[in-house]
Amino acid sequence: MVLLDVNGLRKAFGGLVAVDGLEFTVEQGEIVALIGPNGSGKTTTFNLVTGFLDADGGTVTFDGEDITDLSPYDVARRGLGRTFQITRPFGRLTVFENMLVPNTSTRTYSREQEERIWQILEELDIDHVADHDANELSGGQQKLLELARVLMLDPKLILLDEPAAGVNPALMDEIIEQIRALNDRGTTFLVVEHDMSVIEELCERIVVMDSGRKIASGTFEEIRRDTGVKEAYLG
Ligand code: ADP
Ligand code: MG
Repeated sequence: MVLLDVNGLRKAFGGLVAVDGLEFTVEQGEIVALIGPNGSGKTTTFNLVTGFLDADGGTVTFDGEDITDLSPYDVARRGLGRTFQITRPFGRLTVFENMLVPNTSTRTYSREQEERIWQILEELDIDHVADHDANELSGGQQKLLELARVLMLDPKLILLDEPAAGVNPALMDEIIEQIRALNDRGTTFLVVEHDMSVIEELCERIVVMDSGRKIASGTFEEIRRDTGVKEAYLG
């Protein structure tokens, strides 16, 4: 079953066409990588899909529903979560308080919510820093906190923008393991990542972008053999 269907998506910034008739799908249960050179439009694609930017053309269909013109809040509520290339937790709130941010108030929360928060913090192995301010965490722990916050919304699909960037290798193994475990329990992922070893380990399919378009899609091996992909990367 197709969970995400991006069809003819387009976005220009002035004269620069950042996303140019982009087409790809993500099937329920997959972990798909979205790769491409710097500036090829990956983050803009994430912003279009999650309602942080308005598309100039094309459609985004999620779980059978047209979400092209929805706000970020409404996209998230439908079960499409995301993390950001630059993590942005609320630094002066504690880790626990950060988990409440997707809700309306950091002061009142139900017993159920509190249990869910502890469950997620334990799963991601950051429960021991629950009362630390978020800006005391390492880069990798902040990535885990971001993922933890996204999980509060029980998403069907999570978009991850460069989960390995600035994360030490040991913690990256931990993050990969967590993504795998979530995937085993049914969460679908679309991952922007530059580290090809992370992609090889994690993703069953790769979509390659260049200049706002899809230039290839296939398994890691298929993509590695693709001459068009080599040219896009090597110039
Ligand atoms: P990637 O994530 O693949 O590195 P981006 O989606 O961030 O690429 O950027 C694609 C292109 O769009 C780049 O040329 C970038 O400079 C440009 N761009 C992205 N966001 C904006 C913006 N808000 N205003 C103007 N240009 C932008
Ligand atoms: Mg980017």
